[in-house]
Amino acid sequence: MSIQLRLGIAVLSQRPNAVNIAKRIANEVAVPFLNGSNHDIVLRPFVSRLDLGSDYTGPLDTESLQRVLYTLQPGAPESQVDIGLLLADSFQPRQDYFGLMFDTDYSPQSTNQYEWRAREGASIFLDGIAARRNAADFEDECVYTAIHELGHVFNLFHSPAPSYMERSATFPTTFPLKSCAFSTAETQLLRQCSSSEYIRPGGSAFGVLGGLAKGNVYESEANAPDLPKLRIKMDRTAFWQFEPVELDVEFSLPEKGGWKSRPIPDRLDTGFDDFNIWIEEPSGEKRRYRSIKHFCQSTAHLDVSPDKPFRRDISIFGQSGSFAFQKIGVHRVYATFKIADRVTISSNSIELEILPPRWEDSYFVAAHKVLHDVDLSRLLYYRTLDRSRKRKLRQLYDLAAIKKRHPLTGAIQYGLGRALAHQVEHGKSKGSTLANFTSQAQLYLSAATKRKDLGLHRREVAERKLASMKK
Ligand SMILES: [Zn+2]
Repeated sequence: MSIQLRLGIAVLSQRPNAVNIAKRIANEVAVPFLNGSNHDIVLRPFVSRLDLGSDYTGPLDTESLQRVLYTLQPGAPESQVDIGLLLADSFQPRQDYFGLMFDTDYSPQSTNQYEWRAREGASIFLDGIAARRNAADFEDECVYTAIHELGHVFNLFHSPAPSYMERSATFPTTFPLKSCAFSTAETQLLRQCSSSEYIRPGGSAFGVLGGLAKGNVYESEANAPDLPKLRIKMDRTAFWQFEPVELDVEFSLPEKGGWKSRPIPDRLDTGFDDFNIWIEEPSGEKRRYRSIKHFCQSTAHLDVSPDKPFRRDISIFGQSGSFAFQKIGVHRVYATFKIADRVTISSNSIELEILPPRWEDSYFVAAHKVLHDVDLSRLLYYRTLDRSRKRKLRQLYDLAAIKKRHPLTGAIQYGLGRALAHQVEHGKSKGSTLANFTSQAQLYLSAATKRKDLGLHRREVAERKLASMKK
């Protein structure tokens, strides 16, 4: 048996050689998968004629990339693609990345079936690659990265060279393409593509291998007094599943010992397999928080020293596909972070209670309706606006005005303030629309700075955003 898959390659970059690179990938990408799957995977690559002009050049964020991916998907007008591969200039949040793979977007209650597809495609970043490779190696690295990211689309994890699944960006030079191949273990997986949803693109979520996962053992989690510390915290410990709550993560180096000056990889993000959030459900079942994207490598290091911890927050209410918490009751949550070979540290664990619905309470009913809207829920998840989110802003404004003292109001003020501020900074709004967004952003951020229920971290972020807007 075998499976034919149409791979649409879309060129977003306007680099002069981008189209030629796409053609080279189209010519060379099928053979490694054919051989690496014992002829089970027959890729049919082609360069898409999709032309988005200059709107999609330069650095792009996850959402913009995903939006282009949808236009390539099966059922999209004039498209019969099973997998999408984008050639973009760079990834806006991290411009040193070579590539990434997309799992299902955060899409609670979405009726668009294509938004529910897992492992739907990937992107490679030409500027990221060009910055670290000389002209002679540049094209080979693009081809390698395309094969590597597509390997993730077939649910393969990272593995050591000479496999295509080694993280090439962490090496100073490109691997010779001729000596790369999928490993025997990878072939065992790839050859089941036609018969298994765990391998087939669009099938199970990334990292979910069902019965095929036999050989995968998670590393032990160590904690010793002189190791760096990982701490997690939440402003609130009881909430409804649809409330936009954030998890605070703090990483700190010890004052003494060998770790105090060791560089720590800049991979404290659920998009990396080095960092995970673990959720234990009320039933005791343990699962991993599912990221909507999968990063491969970051060669940068965290900006951290013993007197300066690294802090960030994560919109933990949403994950790939759905709300992160599906059950009512107490969940135990902790995080793990691989900081070096064979060293994975584990955080404290916290208990979070998902509250039952209160259908007799009109405030709950109103909040439930507004925050189940896929556009508004995404607005608070990504803290950005787009055309359909802008049209529905009024619903969030109204919800935030109902119960001023409810902690949910603080969370909405914070999320709204940041999305509006982002629009003012990065959007194309002009004139009275811009003035309106600016004054609303200041209003909500300023309200957020005064809320004790938001916790110190978010109050500080709101203050910083507010100050930068006033400049
Ligand atoms: Zn990778």
